[in-house]
Amino acid sequence: MDLIGMYLRDALGEGCPVCRILRKYEESEIDTILYEHVNNPDVREKFKESLGLCTYHAWKTLRKAYSEPLLGPLGVAIIYEHMLGTYIEHLERGTFPEEGECFLCRLMEEKEKGTIDAFAERIEELLPEYERSESVLCRRHYVMLLQILRRENSTAAERLERIQMKKLRVLRERLGSFIDKFDYRARERPTKEEISALPLTIEALKGIETGIAMKHCEERKRRRFPWR
Ligand SMILES: [Zn+2]
Ligand SMILES: [Zn+2]
Repeated sequence: MDLIGMYLRDALGEGCPVCRILRKYEESEIDTILYEHVNNPDVREKFKESLGLCTYHAWKTLRKAYSEPLLGPLGVAIIYEHMLGTYIEHLERGTFPEEGECFLCRLMEEKEKGTIDAFAERIEELLPEYERSESVLCRRHYVMLLQILRRENSTAAERLERIQMKKLRVLRERLGSFIDKFDYRARERPTKEEISALPLTIEALKGIETGIAMKHCEERKRRRFPWR
């Protein structure tokens, strides 16, 4: 197995491996900005394109800065003082600034695609590891991977479908037992697996809250309420 394969294999453990990779990546990108690029003019330009990231990433960046004792809010304050200045200049000129695409969202999308492609390329090695692990691909990433495999490797696609069904049924069974344990006649307490079945079910259906998941949420909303 090559290095990328090992990196993907290491993400197998619990929950959706692609979501977990994306969450880590998102955190590390924000860290890099806050630790190294607060005054970097190129990065500042990227911030300006979207007038300070999307709503999700702007708040995520601030929370991260506050949560790390070595950082604090100074770096974010410097960046957003600049963004506010840009906004005011526009209004003074009588123009409204365009809010372009958030560059962290763009990075996340590239990383998501790259991760799924890498998974598909190494499917023969990774599928048995996936089957053995407690991981369950979330709906979105399962569909993305399956679509590639159906085009390029239909046997692997069928195997993945079988494995995924098995995993989802196990999850459902655990969640069912978790619910049963709430019955007043139940004598046992829920097991660790049963307790984690609830968050893992939400992860299997909805993925983890990263910029990508939030973006698709927004897009769905916009399709339903186009006047907003
Ligand atoms: Zn996922
Ligand atoms: Zn964003």
